[in-house]
Amino acid sequence: MDAAADALALFRSLSPTPPEGAWSAPGRVNLIGEHTDYNDGFVLPFAIDRRTHAVVGRNSSGEVRVASTFTDAQVVVPLDDLDAMFPSSGAPAVPAWAAYPLGVAWALRQAATAPSIGIDIAIASDVPVGAGLSSSAAIEGAVATALNDVWDLGLDPVGLARVGRRAENEAVGAPTGIMDQMAAMLGRADAAIFLDCRSLEAQVVDLGFAAAGLELVVIDTRVQHAHSTGGYRDRRDACERGAAALGVPALRDVSMSDLDRARGILDDVTFRRVRHIVTENQRVLDTVETLRTQGPAAIGALLDASHASMRDDFEISVPELDTAVESARAAGAIGARMTGGGFGGAAIALTPHAEVGTVRDAATRAFAHAGFAAPRVFTVTPSDGARRDG
Ligand code: ADP
Ligand code: MG
Repeated sequence: MDAAADALALFRSLSPTPPEGAWSAPGRVNLIGEHTDYNDGFVLPFAIDRRTHAVVGRNSSGEVRVASTFTDAQVVVPLDDLDAMFPSSGAPAVPAWAAYPLGVAWALRQAATAPSIGIDIAIASDVPVGAGLSSSAAIEGAVATALNDVWDLGLDPVGLARVGRRAENEAVGAPTGIMDQMAAMLGRADAAIFLDCRSLEAQVVDLGFAAAGLELVVIDTRVQHAHSTGGYRDRRDACERGAAALGVPALRDVSMSDLDRARGILDDVTFRRVRHIVTENQRVLDTVETLRTQGPAAIGALLDASHASMRDDFEISVPELDTAVESARAAGAIGARMTGGGFGGAAIALTPHAEVGTVRDAATRAFAHAGFAAPRVFTVTPSDGARRDG
């Protein structure tokens, strides 16, 4: 499977004129720092070697025309209609997937003065969809980077990350934070992005997995999650409730030493939601410090503690994710946790190179034993962020 070639072939079937170019953006794995982003806290994601490709050209019809190998349908919207379409309230005017690229086009036109040049966009990807690897930020990053160039808008990568988030929040209607878009835009080979979600200050932190003989194994449970509904929104509400009750702008402003006081003020569920955010923020800081001083072989216990907190306090794990984490650890992973928003998606297991096969077999066996559908197990490599490819 070669997604770059697929995107080009799809473009040729869409448009009689040659494309302006090809752009891509990666999915991401969040090494640690879950649900901390919308609490103004810290996260430590890295971009992965699976990418969404966008081949883009101009058209003379003043329309945005999008197609993706994800689906057969092509969606066509006049540029002038985008403003009436978004922010979307009520029934969506386009198929759900098309709200991502069209939402990016809309958000870019809100953020900058764009020329009225019609655009053809062909998309193909090898980022698994709905697996917690942020195929959504990958499609947003690829399209935003492409249109920024083709329309000559001059936004910087952080500006494009904001555009991607706005599209996801206001066009798609998923209340997610900005971590995924920042990782997709700013990722660097062999490094993670240490992001302060309040200031959006980002630092590159070397990971050095390969030098330490480690691999990052992803165990995709294939349990689909949906961020626009249900548990994700509920956890956001609980965090907002907790911050309001504690009299702080965001849970970022609650420290580990404030937790005793919080326990007396909050109901048990809200307290545990708050405790996850507060301890998870601290674990991100500790992971960055440990990576810098001792290297990746020393972060296993922090990954394990993060998973326990999500399972017990934030309650966003599912039996498949717990099985993935426990079987990987028992088979030789030095640390493992679910990654992404939860309620499905993938777990990650930091694993010595020689144990990768053992971890794969153990996870597969444990899933079969529990009666779960077989997981998809693969390794990912920390990679570069969004870019023009040709
Ligand atoms: P995740 O980001 O964890 O993969 P999301 O639910 O946030 O899951 O985003 C997945 C959605 O993004 C898909 O259901 C689809 O609507 C859209 N999407 C992702 N990749 C593509 C693609 N290559 N083509 C079209 N739509 C895509
Ligand atoms: Mg997503």
